[in-house]
Amino acid sequence: MKHTLADVVDIDLHKQPHRPQLAELQTLYRMEGEAGRRAATRQGLWVAVAVYLLFFAIDILLVPDVAFYTILARLVIGISALLCFEILYRIKARTKWLDGTCAAALVFGYIGWLVPAMTTADSASMSYYMIFGAIFMMGANLFFSFRFRLSVVASGIVLTTFFVALSFFSEHDPAYLIAFGTFYVSCFIFTSYVNWKLNRERYKVFLNAFEAKIQQNEASERGMALLRLSNTDPLTGLDNRRAIDQQLRDYWNDWQKLGKSFAAMLIDVDFFKKYNDCYGHQEGDRCLVLVANALGEAIKDYNGSIGRYGGEEFIVLARLDTLEQAAELAEVICRTVENMRLVHEQRRDGVSIVTVSVGAAFTRNQTGAKLEKIIHEADRALYAAKASGRNCAKLFDPNDPQSSDESENIAALLKIAVDQNLVSLVYQPIRNVMTGEVEAVEALMRLTMLDGTSVPPSLFIPVAERTGAILDLGRWAIKTVCHELLVDNHIPLVSVNVSPIQLKTPGFATSVAAILGETGVAGSRLAFEITEGLEMEMHSGILRCISDLETLGIRIWLDDFGTGFAGLSWLRLIDFDTVKVDRSFLHDCSTPKGRAMLQDIIGLVRNRGHKILIEGVETDEQLALMRRFRIDQVQGFHVGRPAPAETFRTPPDKPRIPLRNGARS
Ligand code: C2E
Ligand code: MG
Ligand code: MG
Repeated sequence: MKHTLADVVDIDLHKQPHRPQLAELQTLYRMEGEAGRRAATRQGLWVAVAVYLLFFAIDILLVPDVAFYTILARLVIGISALLCFEILYRIKARTKWLDGTCAAALVFGYIGWLVPAMTTADSASMSYYMIFGAIFMMGANLFFSFRFRLSVVASGIVLTTFFVALSFFSEHDPAYLIAFGTFYVSCFIFTSYVNWKLNRERYKVFLNAFEAKIQQNEASERGMALLRLSNTDPLTGLDNRRAIDQQLRDYWNDWQKLGKSFAAMLIDVDFFKKYNDCYGHQEGDRCLVLVANALGEAIKDYNGSIGRYGGEEFIVLARLDTLEQAAELAEVICRTVENMRLVHEQRRDGVSIVTVSVGAAFTRNQTGAKLEKIIHEADRALYAAKASGRNCAKLFDPNDPQSSDESENIAALLKIAVDQNLVSLVYQPIRNVMTGEVEAVEALMRLTMLDGTSVPPSLFIPVAERTGAILDLGRWAIKTVCHELLVDNHIPLVSVNVSPIQLKTPGFATSVAAILGETGVAGSRLAFEITEGLEMEMHSGILRCISDLETLGIRIWLDDFGTGFAGLSWLRLIDFDTVKVDRSFLHDCSTPKGRAMLQDIIGLVRNRGHKILIEGVETDEQLALMRRFRIDQVQGFHVGRPAPAETFRTPPDKPRIPLRNGARS
């Protein structure tokens, strides 16, 4: 398992850059120097040969009798040197050969001129002209950028040749010999010394430049590595949210500017919290890595990118041409994870392997649409996938009420609902089957739009849960119930529907305790209805919250029993005061099979010692059946429709609401 970001992106942030040994450095210096020097040497030779040839004029002036030979020598040597050099240059011979050619040209140029010039009859002129040799020496040491050894050899030959030639002038006076000899020797020493210094300086400059280059490379490598780190998810090695957001911007720009359509998919590992709780976090991490790798492989054929969006959520972006392709890819993603068959035995929906839910959105032409819209749509589709039982893929459908713009409006409305008095509560009586007495009422929330039209709970409750608005609304509902019916003892008990989101939120029980304290209502006057739904994973936080609520005296009811998967295990874990059997079982009672089913459920709940409430009693026959089944309580349009609080504010001396159709509001 990879543990750190650096492991994942496979870099060593503490790695020192490679610094070569001395010999390696010198080879590098030579190679580096060669490249830059070739063109300069070539240019230098052409200039030197040109100047050498121009000296023909001085030959004519000072040694006219042998000028023909000296000029011929100049031409032959100059042209041969250039020819030789150009050939070597073109065949890309090593620079040391080019330098050697130049050094040879200098030596031969000197000797080639000196030998015929020495035969002149005008020895006085020649004795002056001899000074010309010093230029060859300087050329070897300073004009070209020879390495020290070559320049000393070349200038040494020139110096030696000079002394040999000087011996022919032995008839000259010693002062001449001493002056010229000393001049040549000092010229040799000084220019050789300067050459040595220059070579050293060049090497130092090279070393500095080399070090700077190493540091620059190192800095840019570290920069790249850090960039990779900042864009990588440490666990899975996939792009992290930041990187994928950047890619999303690119995809979006291409869609806006070039019309390249794409799909965005949000992938959520089903019941992952449960997986972590059951198998431990290390196994949870391993599961995420395996899923990430499998998804990475699966999307390769679709030209997609994948990233970890946070927690157990992944995101896939893919350039696709049609909605059908998007649907196909979403399905492939689902099946890929399913086919991995990673064991997950603790989920409560009958499936025992790890699966994912996928919400996909495809680019659509919408005026004024923003980049976030497509993610928002994918999120809605993901919500729909989860609501349809998970392990499935859903494409965003703009015509689905939960996905529509209407749901956007509802989300906005919910934010201001409490302040603007757009929410209210109605209460539906819960009656004792035998006595007909209203033993409790269920608080049901109502929402009206700003124009007065009402929004059904089936529409706004899921939106409130998705957006988190349910937390404020839920608190408001409990407080309102206390104020409207409980403070003045109009009704003995009020049941309030509580969403799993509320139970999962830390501090919920404390906030309820605060409301009870504020209003002076005893906890035993409240019942909380918990719906056995898919959203309700058995979370240790939820169990703790339920136990805290029970400590406050609040009764816990199980709502819509029989509609979810988890009901039976819930019955084992939580000591419900009352179980409300979903109305669908009563409505199926017209058939013997349906009736037997209801009886079985009643038997089961009764044996566990819970009170039984049957929902959805709509007819006299159903009520009679409930009496026959000796059900404790009933609720339904036949025994009382939901009505405003005023309906229940009856003075204590007035008769109780009769158990007949008259109860309808
Ligand atoms: P629920 O808790 O099962 O509430 C009972 C629903 O059944 C209510 O619908 C009620 O009007 C309806 N009903 C009652 N008797 C009959 C009947 O005889 N026949 C039929 N066909 N229906 C009947 P409503 O008010 O539309 O609420 C729907 C759901 O919305 C509720 O189901 C509950 O899950 C949720 N809900 C309502 N208010 C709240 C709330 O304050 N908080 C939360 N979290 N959920 C709420
Ligand atoms: Mg209810
Ligand atoms: Mg119900």
